[in-house]
Amino acid sequence: MKAIKGKPFFRGVKIAGHKALTSALPAERLGYGGEIAIPVRQHAGAPAELVVAAGQHVRRGELIARASGAVSANIHASVCGTVKAVEDRADGRGGSCIHIVITPDGTQEDAFLPPLSSPVAEEILTRIEACGIVGMGGAGFPAHVKLKPPVPVDTLILNGAECEPYLTCDDALMKHHTEEIVRGAHYLAEALGVKNIIIAIERNKPEAIAAFEKTDLAVVALKKQYPMGAEKQLIYCCTGRKVPLGKLPAHAGVVVQNVGTAYAVCEAVERGKPLIERIVTVSGAGIAAPKNLICAVGTPLSALIEACGGVQDAVKFVAGGPMTGTALTGAESVVTKTTGGFLFLTKQETNTDAPTGCINCGKCADVCPMKLMPMQTEFYTNAKEYENADKYGGVLSCIECGACSYICPARRPLAQAIKTAKEHLRRKKA
Ligand code: SF4
Ligand code: SF4
Repeated sequence: MKAIKGKPFFRGVKIAGHKALTSALPAERLGYGGEIAIPVRQHAGAPAELVVAAGQHVRRGELIARASGAVSANIHASVCGTVKAVEDRADGRGGSCIHIVITPDGTQEDAFLPPLSSPVAEEILTRIEACGIVGMGGAGFPAHVKLKPPVPVDTLILNGAECEPYLTCDDALMKHHTEEIVRGAHYLAEALGVKNIIIAIERNKPEAIAAFEKTDLAVVALKKQYPMGAEKQLIYCCTGRKVPLGKLPAHAGVVVQNVGTAYAVCEAVERGKPLIERIVTVSGAGIAAPKNLICAVGTPLSALIEACGGVQDAVKFVAGGPMTGTALTGAESVVTKTTGGFLFLTKQETNTDAPTGCINCGKCADVCPMKLMPMQTEFYTNAKEYENADKYGGVLSCIECGACSYICPARRPLAQAIKTAKEHLRRKKA
């Protein structure tokens, strides 16, 4: 279907895309046969519970940790081999988590589920849950939970905005696996009981837009504006509907899923394949040869660095995009279900100068797409007055897009302060 123009949203920022480093490159499979370390927490919600022990042989696709609780996701072996250890390891982001370490044996015996043919809604939901599929845009919310909205919905939006600079993993998937994404979208729509399916793509991806114009999905070509890929902004730009503050997209009649999630759903339904690999963009001027790589979950970052010719002059390593990603403390990280990219940024690409005092310019509030007061949040968070951070800064409505930090001339760590305040308020509520 011929693409229609999406609406612009209020506020936000214009940022350089830096996508040319990898946007013309197809995804290539990473040739790596070394040790894999799979974290039991790669999703929103409770960590999965172990179902394997050291010394046990596992096949590719075999369940190794089971979802625990209402919001959690199954985890599967991404290679055949022997469980070498189950141990707490650093996650490269300043924390740690239990990892299941597997030594591959070089075999390719898949323990996938049987393919489903013409499945009904309940079968699709059960398959998505069994295969451990989570939102692949970054948040990692278990897909089977999101597909059971608390109120009826009439529209599914596939999020192909990929508004974060540098990342091109979704673009590569949309250009080279269009048909699988379309079939995945139809399975998702069947599971939700909706007929209206929209795929939303920023206008800086003309090949992806052209590919989907040849399918039966409604295509919305979005203005390049950050954070276009945030759910509330995306829903407004595609449908004109507003999600009320404190409510879910479902309250506007919509469920949003990432294009990578739709692809994973197609693989799960038609091949019985759990979510055990994904495309990862490795980019930035600080890596010798930027690439889009298809990687098994649990692959160490060091293997990706080696495949891309090594690090050169990088002063900052980031997991994810530069706006919402997490700065890494070193190269200990591994690929997870939600890893869209690893960035290696040089001094020219990132500002590492220390913050200076707030000059009350108001720019952070001017760009906030949620109309919040980020400077107030930071002030009250620094004073450890977290309730006031919400009362005067609106912390709990923040979508953590990072636009305020990006625009701040004093380089105040505003988004970081908001995350800290949110975490305190969440813990207090719990
Ligand atoms: S306050 Fe939150 S929503 Fe507003 S710009 Fe900052 S990170 Fe984005
Ligand atoms: S943009 Fe930075 S300097 Fe300006 S008001 Fe916000 S926090 Fe203060």
